[in-house]
Amino acid sequence: MSDGLVAVYPGSFDPITRGHVDIINRAKRFFDKFTVAVAINPRKRPFFSIEERIEMIKEVFRNDPKIEVEAFKGLLVDYLAKKKAQIVIRGLRALSDFEYEFQMALTNRKLYADAETFFLMTSEPFVYLSAAMVKEIARFGGEIECMVPPPVAKRLHDKAKELENADPDKFEGEGFND
Ligand code: ADP
Repeated sequence: MSDGLVAVYPGSFDPITRGHVDIINRAKRFFDKFTVAVAINPRKRPFFSIEERIEMIKEVFRNDPKIEVEAFKGLLVDYLAKKKAQIVIRGLRALSDFEYEFQMALTNRKLYADAETFFLMTSEPFVYLSAAMVKEIARFGGEIECMVPPPVAKRLHDKAKELENADPDKFEGEGFND
């Protein structure tokens, strides 16, 4: 039996921001199933563990039965085949996102012709919002409440304090990249 139209929104979500939430809310209504797929990338050293990243997204969408949140590793195209997904959702902010996203979309189509990538333009308030920026601001104790959902803001503040107390020297360059 067919699952209808299945979309996958892959990303690092380290952590999920209001920009991601906006993309999910705008995109989900067009699909029967919508999975937020959190990447396990051994090459990246994330600020939040895969479990923490997933928990935060689940907290934000806990009243939304349409949103499924899962970890995935390896090639996105293999994951798409497993999920029988026809659509990949990605967000576009400034022009700077375009080159990378263009390359990814064409490569994924070459590897797996059964899926297409759909792009949503960001909403205006989130044009310059990135997870990397949010982490940098949290690191210096700045206000991040307008950039991330409340449960994420709390965790960012807690984590920043925790890291600072643990070993201030270790803080330098530790996990604040994307
Ligand atoms: P990745 O490591 O795959 O780039 P991210 O978690 O940084 O993962 O982003 C996942 C997707 O969400 C990407 O398509 C990215 O362009 C998009 N995105 C990130 N921030 C925003 C934002 N502020 N507005 C719209 N889309 C965004």
